[in-house]
Amino acid sequence: MIPLSEPSLGGNEARYLRECIDTGYVSSAGPFVGRFEREFAAAVGAPRAVACASGTAALHVALLAAGAGPGSVVAVSDFTFIASANAAHYTGAALLLVDSEPETWNMNTELLHDEVVRRARLGRPIPDIVEVVHVLGHPARMEPLFELRDRFWIDIVEDAAESLGASWTEGTLAGRQVGTAGGAGCFSFNGNKIITAGGGGAIVTADHELADVAARLSDQAKAPGEHYRHDDVGFNYRLTNIAAAVASAQLEQLPDKVAAKRALAARYRESLRPLPVTPPPSADWADPTFWLYSILLDDPGLDPAKLVAALAADGIQTRRLWPPLHDQRPYRSADRIGGAVADDLYRRGLSLPSSAHLSEHDQRTVVAALASILAAS
Ligand SMILES: *Cc1c(COP(=O)(O)O)cnc(C)c1O
Repeated sequence: MIPLSEPSLGGNEARYLRECIDTGYVSSAGPFVGRFEREFAAAVGAPRAVACASGTAALHVALLAAGAGPGSVVAVSDFTFIASANAAHYTGAALLLVDSEPETWNMNTELLHDEVVRRARLGRPIPDIVEVVHVLGHPARMEPLFELRDRFWIDIVEDAAESLGASWTEGTLAGRQVGTAGGAGCFSFNGNKIITAGGGGAIVTADHELADVAARLSDQAKAPGEHYRHDDVGFNYRLTNIAAAVASAQLEQLPDKVAAKRALAARYRESLRPLPVTPPPSADWADPTFWLYSILLDDPGLDPAKLVAALAADGIQTRRLWPPLHDQRPYRSADRIGGAVADDLYRRGLSLPSSAHLSEHDQRTVVAALASILAAS
């Protein structure tokens, strides 16, 4: 079976894990946690990083630290993995789902901007926070969100779980990596993400107060001074030293992994050119990483589920894109702006095998299988 995406653990993982075991530092008190936080912040280009037990945990405490809670509204991308919405929901905030733009598949931030201006003019409630997701390795268009922040004080929290290493190449953000544009940026180190800790996450920020609040909430809201004194309802969201050891070893390989994903994407783009499929977004103002190389079927009559099944019969694992949040049971009644683009991405989208170490031979097998199934359908 050629898997959709497998972690590659080819570096110092075993050596650093051995160190944890030899020293007895297996839980959150251990040198790899602080080391990973420092190195991760430097790798992303942010002043601070707070390591967390998962990407979902990172989003949850980052949103809390940004002020999300009962009575507030978080605008979130409609087309995303459900964890983006769940994290906002945990805070007690109401959700406003925002449709995608066709160009990047990310939140249509201009649509949100215009709707916020319209609602403000009518005296209707506007979001307090925008949780913008950089999906599938492609940065979102941020300028309309900066206008909302400057004009309406709407905070920006980035869900960069899928896009570590991606950057903007033009405008005010030229040269900056995803996660550093908003008040806080959140990452995931789940097994399928670009680097893994087994499970883990991180928040990056330039706001030291936000970092301190997030770190405190992640650690049971311990009060300074006396042991077992807590001044808030916190969470057990810390990353363990074992996970941080794996994450540190993975971080050393990040540039190679990003380069491998981009090379994989370039080969897919070239070899899929003759087929009736649309390649994934690559805006001329962005440098995406193509975390999962995902295509759209041009023929609206084709059912991606049938393709997934036919490719699986050939030993190739692929996956449909996410059903939009507005089509997921917990969020069906959420307020939303549009949704037709997200529907279309779900109706036509397919992610192809994208492991960083996928061989050219296996990649050719994938393309050949896809070509013959498409020719027969
Ligand atoms: C993976 C992912 C998350 C959640 O990360 P976990 O580490 O699995 O909790 C959140 N948002 C997006 C967009 C993701 O892809």
